[in-house]
Formats: sequence, structure tokens, C-alpha cells
Amino acid sequence: MRVGRTAGVTDTGRRRRRNEDAFVVQPPLFAVADGMGGAQAGEVASKLAAAALADTDHGQLRGSEGVVALIQEANRRVYERANEDPSASGMGTTMTVALVEDGQVVIGHVGDSRAYLVRDGSLEQLTDDHSLVNELMKSGKLSPEEAETHPQRSVITRALGTDPDVDVDTFTIEAREGDIFLLCSDGLTSMIGDTAILDVLEHHRRDLDRAARTLVSEANRGGGEDNITVVAFEIAPGDADDLEETRRLPVAGEEDTLSGLDPVPAVDTMVVPPDQVDVVVARGVAPVETRRPAYWRLVAAMVFLLAVAAVLVVWGLLR
Ligand code: MN
Repeated sequence: MRVGRTAGVTDTGRRRRRNEDAFVVQPPLFAVADGMGGAQAGEVASKLAAAALADTDHGQLRGSEGVVALIQEANRRVYERANEDPSASGMGTTMTVALVEDGQVVIGHVGDSRAYLVRDGSLEQLTDDHSLVNELMKSGKLSPEEAETHPQRSVITRALGTDPDVDVDTFTIEAREGDIFLLCSDGLTSMIGDTAILDVLEHHRRDLDRAARTLVSEANRGGGEDNITVVAFEIAPGDADDLEETRRLPVAGEEDTLSGLDPVPAVDTMVVPPDQVDVVVARGVAPVETRRPAYWRLVAAMVFLLAVAAVLVVWGLLR
């Protein structure tokens, strides 16, 4: 068993000015990172994290400990930069990593990017979103339908770069020939559903690059409200040794492809620790401070002016 075909595509989407996503396709290592932070900090964060992975000698990596070490190193680099550089302060990034070794796929994960597995004609979400809406759904406070449109669906509860250490989810999947693994940013999953994702991957399973590009264009057709990143690889028969020319794709984050559409500052991603989730919800659910209607101000002003006029008239008469 070995890594067969691979693909990695990232796209700015239709609403954002910049692409703050990054990915790594360096078999047997794969990752996606979705950055956040003001100005260009989100881009810096995701690219630093991706570069930390790409720099590492994968020969040294072993199992989930290796994957955790990799993500901790990426976290350390983003955190240090955020502390050194005032313009990068508060930046962070998600990171979902897959490492294939000895017939197993080790997943490491922080944030709301996702890993999926296509096996036997079905799609399984492997990772658990570290997001506000997922916390709320798990505690039964929100239905999946409500989560889809929740104004704070971009709030994540864990990220790289916000603390010196990060809590990483890891687990291992026993790979099978024919498996397709998908890593993606929320710009894909917030625009198209699991059924559509499965359809595309099944339909283009012989051409993963085509599959990845189709997923991106489907997400754009669905609105393209966020940056979209798709990484996919398949588990093929054969030995790891005859790993055919593993193209070393660049750590990507493509140039801006701002279309003619209005760039809107869509719901910006932010990080909130899980224990403060309720606080944020309370704050968020409160309606934007309602201003008193201008009508009442007008009436108040007229009453005031009439009062002044009356005083002046009385004063004039008394002279
Ligand atoms: Mn995103």
C-alpha cells in the first residue's frame, strides 16, 4: 500500500480579496491551513505553519507523536511571529495534517478545517470541528440547520498561534487500497454539502486533480464566500518504495484572483476558548444596539425649539 495520486488546489473564492489558506502536498505528508487575523496576518499565519511542515525532514516523523511535534513546531513559529510583530498580533491558523506511514494514516488537527475519508462509496468526516457552532451543537443548543446560518459560524475554539502550546487532536486510520482522503478548509464545507463532495470525488476518482478543481468550482458556484482549499490523496496498491515521482508541489497560497464581485469582509474568523463559548454567544445573540428612531429625536428637537420660541415670545411681551 502506498500513496497514489495526489492533488492540491486553493482558490480565493468570490468574496475575499486575499487568500489566507495554504496547503502542503509532499507525500507522505499533507496539510491544509486556514489563517485569520487583520490586514495580511492571516496569510502570514497559514503560510508560516505550512512552511514549518514543508521544512521538516519527514524521515524523522513517526506516528501521532511525530504529527503532534510537527504541529507544535508550526504553532511555535506562528506564536513567536505574532508576538514579535505588532502587525501580526492576534493572528492564528487552523491546521489539519495527514501523514501516511506503514499502511496507516495519522491525522493531526486543530480548528475547523476538516479531514474526510471516502471508502466503499460513502464519505466520513474524520475530524471534529473546534468551532463555536460545533460546541453548541454538541451541547444540544443548536441544530445543524441553525449552525449553517449562525452569525458566528466562523468562530473557532482552537487555533495555532494564540498560545505557546496547542492542544492537538490526533488519531490513526488503518488505510485500505482505494481509500481517498480529503483535507479541506471551511470555504469548501460551508458552501457545499457532504453529498455533493462525495459525488464529485466518486465521479472523478480516477483524476483527483480534476476532482479537487471541480470541488473548488462547486464551492464558488455555491457562493464562494470564503477561501477554498482542497487536498486529496488516494491509497494505491504497491510498495511505499515505488512511490512514483512524488512531485514536490510548492506550499501554495495562490495569487489573488479578485473577480469583479464586491469583496465583502465576510464573517471574520476569530478564536474563542471553549470555556468562553457561552459568553460569546450571549454577546453575539444580543441584537446590534438598537438606536432610537430618528423620529423621536426630531420630535424632541421640535419641542425644544417651540419651548425656546415660547420663552422668547413671553420675554418679548414682558419688555
Ligand atoms: Mn476559511
